[in-house]
Order: sequence, then C-alpha cells, then structure tokens
Amino acid sequence: MARSGSTQVHWVVRLNYRNRSLSFMLLFGVIALHWLDDPPGPLLWVLLVMQLLIYPHIAYQLARRASLMLRAETIVMLLDAGLFGCWVAVLGFPLWISFAMLVSVHINLVAFRGVPGLLSCMAASLTGVLVGMLLADVELRPDSSMQVTLACMVALSLYLLAFSHSAHLRSLSLRDAKEQLRNSQRQLQRKLEEINALQIQLRELAHRDPLTGLYNRRHLDAQLLDNVVNRKADSNLCLLLIDIDHFKRINDEFGHQAGDQVLARLAGLLTSHCRSSDIICRYGGEEFVVLMPEVTIGAAVERADAIRLAFTGLKMRFNNRDLAPTLSVGIAACPLHATSGDRLFECADQALYRAKAAGRNRTVLWSADRLSPTDPSTI
Ligand code: GH3
Ligand code: MG
Ligand code: MG
Repeated sequence: MARSGSTQVHWVVRLNYRNRSLSFMLLFGVIALHWLDDPPGPLLWVLLVMQLLIYPHIAYQLARRASLMLRAETIVMLLDAGLFGCWVAVLGFPLWISFAMLVSVHINLVAFRGVPGLLSCMAASLTGVLVGMLLADVELRPDSSMQVTLACMVALSLYLLAFSHSAHLRSLSLRDAKEQLRNSQRQLQRKLEEINALQIQLRELAHRDPLTGLYNRRHLDAQLLDNVVNRKADSNLCLLLIDIDHFKRINDEFGHQAGDQVLARLAGLLTSHCRSSDIICRYGGEEFVVLMPEVTIGAAVERADAIRLAFTGLKMRFNNRDLAPTLSVGIAACPLHATSGDRLFECADQALYRAKAAGRNRTVLWSADRLSPTDPSTI
C-alpha cells in the first residue's frame, strides 16, 4: 500500500486514531476527576498528559509511516493494553476506571484480531500491570467517587457508541463496494457478450459474400473438407458447380449493375430451391457452388435441373430490353466420383467444362468415360 497522503492510510489506522484520540481524552477527564480529591505529584500529571493526550497522535504518525501499517497498528493496540495495565496498577486498581480502560483495549483487539487478539491483549495488559507494580509503590484503592463512576460509565458508553458507529460506517462502505463490484461485473459481462456477438458477426461477415448474402469461397473451403470428412458412411454428398452462361456478354450489353441483379436473382433462386442443410456459396464472379449432404445423385441432378430451368424462366428487363440468362451445372458425388474435397470439386469442374463445351444451358453429371447430360436434346 502507498504511504503518502492521508487517503492512503489504512482504514484501521485511521479509525483507531479517531477512536483512540476520543477515548483517551475522555479517560484523561475521568482520571483527572479521580485525582481531584487526592492529587498526585507533577510527574504523574506529566505522564498522564503524555499518555492520554499526546501519545495517540505520536502512535498514529508512527503507524501511518510504517511499511506494514496494519502490523504497526496491532503493535500500537498491544502497547495501549500494556500501558493501560501499567496505569491501572499505578492508580491502585480503581474498579470502575480499571474496568473502562481494560474493556476498551480488549474490545479493540478482539474486533480487529479475534481470539488471538484477545489473548495477546490479556498478556499485554497483565505485563503492564506487573511493570506498573514494579515501578510504583502500589497501594490498593479500588473505590472511586460517584462522579468518577458516572464519568467512567459515560466515557465507556461514548467510546462504545463511537466504535459501533465506525463499524456501521464500515459495513455501509463494504456494502457499497460490493454493489460497485457487482455493477462492474455486470458491465463486464455485458461487454463480453457484446464482444462475443461482434466476433460472431465478424466471423459471419468474413464468410459471406456482400452482393448476394450467400456464403463465400472461404466458407466453402472449410465446409467442403468438413462435409467430406464427416460424411456418414452410407450417405452421398453432391457438389453442384453452377456458372452463368456468357455472363460477360450480359455485363457488356446490359451494364454491370444488370449483371449484379442477375447474380442476386440467381442467389435467391438457389436459396428457394435448396434445403436448409445444403450449403450455398458464391464461389467467385458468376460461379456458385451448392454442397448437398445426404442426397441421392438422382435427387441432386433433379434439383440442379430445376434451378437451371427456373433461371432460364426468369423474366428480366433492362433498358427496355429482355434478358434471358442461362446457366450450366457440373455435378460430382462423393464417394462415387471422389473421396476428397479437392477431387470432388475437380470432378464437378470437369463436368461443368463439358456442359459448356456441349453448348451451355445444361446439367452434366461427372463420369469417368462419358458425359451424362440431363438435356439429351443438346448432346
Ligand atoms: P462462360 O459462359 O464460358 O462462363 O462465359 P462467361 O462470360 O460467363 O465467363 P467469363 O469468365 O468470360 O466472364 C465472367 C464475367 O463475370 C467477367 C467479370 O467481369 C464478370 N463478373 C465477375 N464478378 C462480377 C460481379 O460481381 N458483378 C458483375 N456484374 N460482373 C462480374
Ligand atoms: Mg460464365
Ligand atoms: Mg465462370
């Protein structure tokens, strides 16, 4: 703990300083009252002033400058107990004064140190009593006047009230600190949730094509490998590679924006024709890939052709001119044609190439020896 400035003084040191200054001053009054009937010599008066009016301030300065403030404060509390024991003996064990002095020091040490505090306080006061008995010619005088008894009661009550008020303030500030901590935890939790949501959003954005909203090539690469590796032993995985025919011409004749709209319409068609388990990606430019897990080859070909026909049937008009786009599809299946993602893609690509070579606007299923067009009229 830093030791410069009063705000950094340990709260136990500050609290004890306040309570010690008050209770010692009250005790000074009580003992002075006790001595009024039979005043001692000036030495005892000087010692009393030093002990009860000056010592609390010196003890505070020492404790707040110590490298281990709490440890120093505990030593000061034990010193209080020893010195009070000494005074009790020197005063001749006046019952009420002794009671007030010893109870106050014991309460303090029990409050901060528990049972070990009580035991060490008892030992320190007893040592103080013995030292007092050794130093002074102790004469047993347990009685004190009614005024002193009353003063003792008032002083002890005031000390206990001050002590419990400090405890109350401390518990309030602890409650506030706990509440603040809970608020900070809640804020932290909210921030973490926001960060997680942003991360998910970022990851999603990194895997999405901004024009069509479909997944992009990065996503496909990850999914392809994943779907091939985790494919159920007895199930088919089909890959459809879809390419718009003469797309460059569409751009050239109708403009780039028209081209973009064609891409977006195809994306919509793919989404409406595919199952939620299918993975639809814009692979790049005017090429799209649909990964169909757990599907028969026949069903995949049928789906591909339905997409092709729906695309051909799109009624699009730009600059008062009709646009009739077509597309070609290459299909390959795992495990029939390929057992790795790369090879599966390669087969679909070769099938697409054959579809283009055969005149476009058709679906071709990959085969090692011959073409398998679904539109026999064009072969
Ligand atoms: P083919 O039938 O052989 O596939 O011919 P194609 O003209 O479709 O193929 P090509 O690869 O020659 O041209 C693809 C064009 O797609 C070229 C490129 O300018 C265009 N393109 C790529 N990305 C976009 C895009 O995001 N928007 C638009 N409007 N055009 C794009
Ligand atoms: Mg094309
Ligand atoms: Mg292309």
